[in-house]
Amino acid sequence: METDIEIAQSSKMMLIEKIAAKIGISENKLEHFGKYKAKVTIDKKSSEPKGKLILVTAINPTPAGEGKTTTSVGLGDALQKIGKKTAIALREPSLGPVFGLKGGAAGGGYAQVVPMEDLNLHFTGDIHAIGAANNLVAAMVDNHIYQGNELKIDPRRVTWRRAIDMNDRQLRSVISGIGAQANGMPREDGFDITVASEVMAVLCLSNSIDEMKQKLRNCIVGYTFDNNPVSIGDLKAEGAVAALLKDALKPNLVQTLENTPVFVHGGPFANIAHGCNSLLATKTALAHADYVVTEAGFGADLGAEKFLDIKCRMGGLKPNAVVIVATVRALKMHGGVSKQDLNEENLEALEKGIPNLLKHVENIENVFGLNAVVAINTFPKDTEQELRLLKDTCFEKNISVIQSDVWAKGSEGGVALAEKVAAICERPSQLTFAYDLSDTIEEKIEKIVQKIYGGSGTEWTSKAKKTAANLTALGYGNLPVCMAKTQYSLSDQAAKIGRPKDFEVNIRELSISAGAGFIVVLTGNIMRMPGLPKKPAAEQIDISRDGKITGLF
Ligand code: ADP
Ligand code: MG
Repeated sequence: METDIEIAQSSKMMLIEKIAAKIGISENKLEHFGKYKAKVTIDKKSSEPKGKLILVTAINPTPAGEGKTTTSVGLGDALQKIGKKTAIALREPSLGPVFGLKGGAAGGGYAQVVPMEDLNLHFTGDIHAIGAANNLVAAMVDNHIYQGNELKIDPRRVTWRRAIDMNDRQLRSVISGIGAQANGMPREDGFDITVASEVMAVLCLSNSIDEMKQKLRNCIVGYTFDNNPVSIGDLKAEGAVAALLKDALKPNLVQTLENTPVFVHGGPFANIAHGCNSLLATKTALAHADYVVTEAGFGADLGAEKFLDIKCRMGGLKPNAVVIVATVRALKMHGGVSKQDLNEENLEALEKGIPNLLKHVENIENVFGLNAVVAINTFPKDTEQELRLLKDTCFEKNISVIQSDVWAKGSEGGVALAEKVAAICERPSQLTFAYDLSDTIEEKIEKIVQKIYGGSGTEWTSKAKKTAANLTALGYGNLPVCMAKTQYSLSDQAAKIGRPKDFEVNIRELSISAGAGFIVVLTGNIMRMPGLPKKPAAEQIDISRDGKITGLF
């Protein structure tokens, strides 16, 4: 079997203007980055989404891997194959995971986005621009304090952190401004990975330059000595910051191995942010294609919930179908099998793990009111009996289920799924959110925990309670909430696999992203700056004399 990068490098790409033409985007709307990448200019048409939107989500992730991106890409290719005018909309990979554990994030096998080296390494520079924009704010905050601190910013309560697109734990907490008086005010500081920055979330939720500037203006950078929030607007920085983001705001267009158009744009973290590609890319795709496949990060409890309650609510979008990716391997892990035993058939464990999938299907159909289909992403070691058991369980419960083989076979392996999805898109559905914006902060969180996670309730630290009261008093009570929770469990404890019951979720602390427009709810320790593993993926990556990159997987 060839590696992902070998498959990607032997593919035959089409010129990007030919890809754009497939969905009726004319060449004068493109800004080329070489032959196979382009930015698409934002025009009025982007605000008229008319295509069918298909959300790809999954069961709770396990170390076995689920394959949401792979399924999104393969489904897009298969929809194209059955004659539908299709586009795909995905997140842009961050350098951190590329060099860390995960390797590339452009699908896998015969369902990939190309050029995969570019996509995984800098791409069109958007993430760097976001880093620069974030760091301009940081520099202006510290400069303001240094220059006399007219706004009376408490240096101990600066909340705006610096950003870099790298997994670098050394920078997580630093003391900055040391040395001499001329070097600024010494204070405790730190770096977040750029994709975890609020600027990334703002960019992904903005429909226009004006809207982005407005959101940036509202971002809180810290608090004064008498506890009042200080915003980017107070620093008069939003204009310069938005200017740095002029091009980054424009969606990027690339293609799959089978030449289906793919928008790859924006990549907010799925824990402290909403975890899906930009609103503008999704809307541009929907304005030009009849079918748009998009992915939300992590499992449906986190990714799909935030996609629906935050992104769709803010952007006026509604999915016509939701694909829930499940694998026999991951469900066996939810049934208690360890990773090294996954290659052996184990019907008992599979049966024990399936309730995790069922809960996500119930959530999509009964809570959100949308049409769901389960896609079984087939792995080479899945047995006939295991696949049979999974399908039969779904049939019994009247759940649509289709086996997908796009990793091994490309579009050919996804035709059945594409046909099912196209049929489901014709069924009526009515999106209901998990909570109303008019609910109190406490009610919103309680509703998510009970309806989506299946928990019995919430337990709050006194700090979190106090913050909720403060945020409400400051007028932020009507914002949506952005849950930051382990992705591995429906609960807030990673070890509670399967479908846990009778658990309470611990609400540790809340933080406000006033610019992006949501309240982040921290239920555990959330990493905003990951580290590299003992054996970083970077050790395998190389480039030859003639510029060919190897070792990205
Ligand atoms: P997600 O988007 O859910 O994180 P990806 O689609 O990125 O998952 O897939 C994770 C990894 O699993 C990738 O390396 C991919 O190549 C691999 N993978 C996905 N589906 C299959 C499959 N059916 N068989 C073998 N490997 C797969
Ligand atoms: Mg993915």
